[in-house]
Amino acid sequence: MGICLSKGRIGGSNSNDHRSGSGDGAGMSYQKLQEPAIQEQNTIPAQQLPGRQPAAGVQRKKPAPSSKPVVHRPDTILGKPFEDIKSFYTIGKELGRGQFGVTYLCTENSTGQQYACKSISKRKLVSKNDREDMKREIQIMQHLTGQANIVEFKGAYEDRQSVHLVMELCAGGELFDRIIAKGHYSERAAASICRAIVNVVHVCHFMGVMHRDLKPENFLLSDKSENARLKTTDFGLSVFIEEGKVYHDIVGSAYYIAPEVLRRSYGKEIDIWSAGVILYILLCGVPPFWAETEKGIFNEILKGEIDFESQPWPSISSSAKDLVKKMLTLDPKTRLTSVQVLEHPWIREGGEASDKPIDSAVLSRMKQFRAMNKLKKLALKVIAENLSEEEIQGLKSMFTSMDTDKSGTITYEELKTGLARLGSKLTEVEVKQLMEAADVDGNGTIDYIEFITATMHRHKLERDEHLYKAFRHFDKDNSGYITRDELEIAMKEYEMGDDATIKEIISEVDTDNDGRINYEEFCTMMRSGTTQPGKLF
Ligand code: ADP
Repeated sequence: MGICLSKGRIGGSNSNDHRSGSGDGAGMSYQKLQEPAIQEQNTIPAQQLPGRQPAAGVQRKKPAPSSKPVVHRPDTILGKPFEDIKSFYTIGKELGRGQFGVTYLCTENSTGQQYACKSISKRKLVSKNDREDMKREIQIMQHLTGQANIVEFKGAYEDRQSVHLVMELCAGGELFDRIIAKGHYSERAAASICRAIVNVVHVCHFMGVMHRDLKPENFLLSDKSENARLKTTDFGLSVFIEEGKVYHDIVGSAYYIAPEVLRRSYGKEIDIWSAGVILYILLCGVPPFWAETEKGIFNEILKGEIDFESQPWPSISSSAKDLVKKMLTLDPKTRLTSVQVLEHPWIREGGEASDKPIDSAVLSRMKQFRAMNKLKKLALKVIAENLSEEEIQGLKSMFTSMDTDKSGTITYEELKTGLARLGSKLTEVEVKQLMEAADVDGNGTIDYIEFITATMHRHKLERDEHLYKAFRHFDKDNSGYITRDELEIAMKEYEMGDDATIKEIISEVDTDNDGRINYEEFCTMMRSGTTQPGKLF
């Protein structure tokens, strides 16, 4: 299966997001409202921060006059003298880049031990709020370190340009990349991943922290082994929970935001909702609340209707569905707590989740593609050629993982092993049929565009601009109709279709029987068929 998920997040208190004012067409302001200052008892004493000096905020007394000139450093975040991180660590290659910083591999000079170092440029921390948030992120990491499924925190350093957070190296990469690379998994595997995620929620809540940004990208694997542990690394939007406090800020990442966040009145139950969204995706490959725009996504979230009808849901156990429903309950008061989730029979270790492989989205889409007529396939190819990088990201990585010899095309053998990795138990004949279906130009291999064509999701088709572009591609003389001649030219261009096929297509698509295909007929053909209703791939 492939997953293409937006990495963007909303709100947050980082400078860029923070100052963005009103959001997109949703007409909703994502600007973070000023939260009351964190209560003293909820903060971690500054003395516990890495380094021996108390944090700036805690130094209430004016420094006593001394003979040495006092260097005023308004740009200090950690409230301790600047240190040169290079005297403790050797910084290595870049591991990843987030919205707020760049993470590097680093090696501790004294021990040779490897860590990850997230460096945040202070230029990005413009307002007092940004600096407070940075401090809070460090405090929370420090607070939670040592707990299962939470990245180990090593230390924080500051120099003139940046703040550096040194933490345990999670060399196994992002959770979803691992799932995609592995290709297939069972309900049991999904249950075990979900258990780790809910365990993070449990630890956070138990320790008085609300995470507020649970999403797949924030989970990394400790190493490259099969039994690697899942670790959450990013607490950039987390806050200490104040008993009885109602939170108002709209923060998080669109797909994962709980309805009560959108209503601006929420508590820690939002983390269970986000974990429920992740579980839904783990089981079927698409988010439960999907639309083209953020406003659309929010509307879907507020409606809270969950699709359990589309593939592969009919074959997923009712126990799994029961848990998803109870985690995605609109009313936060009746939503399961982290403890209740961990006790659910589906998720419990050795519980009800079976190890039967889940049908992969790629496989089912290829099967649907097989059943399409040739014009539709051709039109899909035109659309695939016009998709943006972003739109095909997930499929691109799937293609690369199947194209094991990196030749730029997938052979029958590669498709067979690729699909087997996705958990399919297809016979040789069935794989051959899929191969033939996807191989639009009939040259015996599937190229990149053909793969995207055969496996992209229906929601791309529903976008009018894509359909219109494809129609225009065929309607060479801009008459508003695809004529028999134009269809023939296009079929020849792609080396497919004989006279009989062209006749067949026209008679099938041309519902008003005038011998040509108008735009309406074209759209009806493109939108008809066996695919799921518009959802994100
Ligand atoms: P931001 O908060 O700026 O979005 P993240 O904490 O999400 O940054 O980190 C950005 C990327 O850096 C991650 O997607 C991941 O690839 C990499 N990364 C972060 N922490 C670690 C770590 N402990 N070990 C390995 N890679 C990491």
